[in-house]
Amino acid sequence: MVKIGITGGIGSGKTTIATLLKDRGYPVYIADSEASVLINTHPSIRKALTDQFGSSLYDKGVLNKKKLSDIIFKDKNALSLVNHIVHPVVMEDFIAWSQQQRTNLVFFESAILFEANLAAHFDVIICIYASLQTRIERVRKRDGISPEKVMERIKNQWSDEKKCQQSDFIIYTDRDLDINRQTTEIVKRIESKYFRSPESI
Ligand code: ATP
Repeated sequence: MVKIGITGGIGSGKTTIATLLKDRGYPVYIADSEASVLINTHPSIRKALTDQFGSSLYDKGVLNKKKLSDIIFKDKNALSLVNHIVHPVVMEDFIAWSQQQRTNLVFFESAILFEANLAAHFDVIICIYASLQTRIERVRKRDGISPEKVMERIKNQWSDEKKCQQSDFIIYTDRDLDINRQTTEIVKRIESKYFRSPESI
């Protein structure tokens, strides 16, 4: 089974590509959504976070997101602490989930795959790329926020250029016409690299 990471900046089109892959029958693990579930349900995350930040971090068993983001905003080390607690559990969960899949390829989508130091877990990494201008415009429209606010979010992550330089493949999404074709091409190349039959080598 080939484990494929999908990454890219805010508004680059990761969710769009993930949906396209799911529609084609490929399993895609959306790290951000799964992390939000695990942070509420996984005993070792809950214990580590409450040991660190106090039991009032959870209200009646549900993470108080506002409280956590206030803590992270005030203390730079807190974010890295939270990441060190959450990311290993997410990866464990992804591995367990992968083992239940019945396909040759499984995908893992995360905006912060490189920032969180997860690249070594994957056989192949695909970077989703759109120009800064396109991303600002998309997120502005989607989330109804100012370009300045979008830029603030973008600045908290690595640049798309840096992510793409360290990836195996890039899908360009500025124009929507050919994302289908690019995805097909990349999947074909991955399949032929990993599953080429001996007689065709
Ligand atoms: P985030 O990290 O902020 O969740 P993302 O990388 O997952 O963003 P998407 O949610 O896929 O990005 O795309 C952001 C917005 O841009 C969405 O409203 C989506 O419909 C639109 N979009 C994405 N790709 C394209 C495309 N190729 N052409 C036109 N619009 C697109």
